[in-house]
Amino acid sequence: MLPEDLVLPDDLREALRGVRSMGAITGAGVSAESGIPTYRGSGGLYDDPEEGDRTVEALSGPTLRRDPDRTWHVVAELARRSVAARPNPGHEALARIEAALPRFVLLTQNVDGLHREAGSRNVIDIHGDVLDTRCMACGLTGRLTREELRELDAAPSCPACDGTLRPDAVLFGEMLPAAKVASMQAAFYDDPPELVLIAGTTAVFPYIADPVAHAARSGRLTVEVNPEPTFVSDAVRWSIRGTAGTVLPAIAAELT
Ligand code: NAD
Ligand code: ZN
Repeated sequence: MLPEDLVLPDDLREALRGVRSMGAITGAGVSAESGIPTYRGSGGLYDDPEEGDRTVEALSGPTLRRDPDRTWHVVAELARRSVAARPNPGHEALARIEAALPRFVLLTQNVDGLHREAGSRNVIDIHGDVLDTRCMACGLTGRLTREELRELDAAPSCPACDGTLRPDAVLFGEMLPAAKVASMQAAFYDDPPELVLIAGTTAVFPYIADPVAHAARSGRLTVEVNPEPTFVSDAVRWSIRGTAGTVLPAIAAELT
């Protein structure tokens, strides 16, 4: 792990100077320092990996259809943590970078809304937002209020038809929304940004790892920020071992 007063490698600092376009990709690790645990990996919610697996199972499409209360029990907890959390220096650094560069896009797997709260604007939240809801019977969409959230432990009912609401987010084993996939394609494939930075994700999903590999193949700069090695560590030019809250501000300082 890098120390608090971290200094980036000289060749990285030099490469960052003059970068005008950036694509950032983030996962649960970027919100860890805001007090929202990841499911697995460094600082994960569960020491016991089997418990982590049970959480993933609860947050899956098949479980939602079979036992929506079980899914909502876990979603409600994540939603409560999300509304209580505040953006950390990692989120804030990405918002500063966006304000400073002519072209910036942020692809996040996080459903906690903290990037937008920190000021990020061009965000593709590929997995949606944990507060958004959709009726499984009539399709009505909505958003949970803080009051509803406080007591929530089982599947809520639709105000229009009394059907069962689902989280309007992508659960494990479900398809990604086509419009967001198209945005992701346009942002990372047609003309990849000069710099692709990936932070706080194990990058298990191919749609998260592939844009990084594509950028590397296309001769773009690639940087990873994570306390632990991940599926993209070998594909990137620089793999920085440290937390998002310390390393992203250091990167922002070079870009802004
Ligand atoms: P993940 O696969 O993204 O794993 C978390 C990663 O973060 C690990 O690689 C870990 O080493 C790294 N990490 C831990 N602390 C960090 C820090 N301070 N700085 C930088 N990196 C750090 O995510 P997961 O937890 O296995 O969850 C799987 C799915 O569920 C993903 O889609 C994820 O986004 C979602 N999820 C979202 C939230 C959220 O919205 N905050 C929280 C939990 C899970
Ligand atoms: Zn309904």
